[in-house]
Amino acid sequence: MVLTFLFFVGIAVVAVWLYITFILRNEVQEAFHQTTEQEALRIAEIVESTPSSAQRIATIRDIADYTGLRITVVSFDSVLIDIYGGQILSDGRLHSREEMRFSSGASVQFAERLDAGIHTYFTAVKRPGSGIVVRIGHPEPPLFALVRRIQMTLIVAMMMALLLAVIGAWIAAGQVTKPLKAIRNSARSISAGDLTEEIIVDSRASEFQDLAESLNQMSDAFREKIGELQRLAQLQNEFIGNVSHEVRNPIFSVGGYLEALASPSLTEQQRRFYAEKGLLNLERLNNLFSDLIEIARLEYQEDLIKPVVFDLRDLSLDVNEFMIGKAEHKGIELVMENAPVQVNADRGRIRQVLVNLIDNAIAYSDEGAVRLRFRRHLDKVRIEVVDLGRGIPEDHLERIFERFHRVDPDRSRKRGGTGLGLSIVKQILHAHGEQINVESTVGRGTRFWFELPFAPSENGDTEA
Ligand code: ADP
Repeated sequence: MVLTFLFFVGIAVVAVWLYITFILRNEVQEAFHQTTEQEALRIAEIVESTPSSAQRIATIRDIADYTGLRITVVSFDSVLIDIYGGQILSDGRLHSREEMRFSSGASVQFAERLDAGIHTYFTAVKRPGSGIVVRIGHPEPPLFALVRRIQMTLIVAMMMALLLAVIGAWIAAGQVTKPLKAIRNSARSISAGDLTEEIIVDSRASEFQDLAESLNQMSDAFREKIGELQRLAQLQNEFIGNVSHEVRNPIFSVGGYLEALASPSLTEQQRRFYAEKGLLNLERLNNLFSDLIEIARLEYQEDLIKPVVFDLRDLSLDVNEFMIGKAEHKGIELVMENAPVQVNADRGRIRQVLVNLIDNAIAYSDEGAVRLRFRRHLDKVRIEVVDLGRGIPEDHLERIFERFHRVDPDRSRKRGGTGLGLSIVKQILHAHGEQINVESTVGRGTRFWFELPFAPSENGDTEA
């Protein structure tokens, strides 16, 4: 970055220097040449118009005195006069001097060199007709010195500018690279797995702060996602542990009962007892596998919910028929809602929700009634399953929807429960965009409720 910057500054410096050296200087020199050529021509005209040689010399002397220039006049190759500062000079190499060697066709020549220790600019003009050559020697004109001084001043100024540019670029590059290095180091730590690393940029530039903020947000998001994945992995491990435990227990029990059944000395009553126990455990296993398959289907099949419009009263009759045996067996009254109300949901899945809730209500009640109620509230229908059973302690209320969480594991297993029923209920309602709620008082009963979208019947009947 610094090098690029210096490259462009360097190009600018060289361009200015070239302009001053070649263009500006040449223009000044050109103007000077024109002026001196005019001067020399003027002198030549004066010399030509002066008839006698003595007069010519006197005139040239006057002009030389007056202008302070060195003036040389040559007439037909012989030097008429060569005068400077009142001194008559004699230049033995006059005819071989650069300015006096006229190339063919040229009538003016220029040269510059040290003359008596002074940098002198010579201009010689030739008048072919009269054979007169006038040469004037100018000490360096102040304009040339001025251009040189400007040139020197500019070079010094440019050098200083270059130096300042180097320093400025160095500081600027430092300001850019320092936060970038900090960001790079933090990014390396993050990629090495240290997600607690926070990128802090010591720069007021908003771009860097934005960049650091974005990267911090990104690492926060990663941290969250990784935490989530770790939590899921832990849940999965727990789930697998629970499943193997739940599977192993009934299998061992079945094995034990089969062994007992093989004994020849069993009474008929004992045989029936062991056979019933074995079957109960097989039923437990069957329930467990059905629930596990259900969970897997709900988890991995996105299109599992197929909503249709159906009447909850029909469904309640259906569920009543399915559960009545179990309820009667326990001496519990099943009170089902009888009013027609239509909802838009997956009928099969909602049937399963009701079966699971009513099955639990019967299982965890010893007497009284289990009620299924539904009431319309605006564009929703609220469905409740209420029992007068043992209730759920408050500290379990949050957790009963977790897989395999049971308030009383023994009682749950004895009745063939899998500990998965409520988690399936929660999953099904979640897939409908709804949620399951619970309210319970220990010793007095429990109320589960959820909502489904109300669907007006085709004949416009909107009453629940
Ligand atoms: P389970 O197969 O054990 O019934 P669930 O997921 O259906 O599994 O229920 C989880 C736990 O919630 C049950 O073990 C039970 O302790 C408690 N529970 C569920 N419904 C009721 C209810 N109506 N009354 C009392 N406790 C209940």
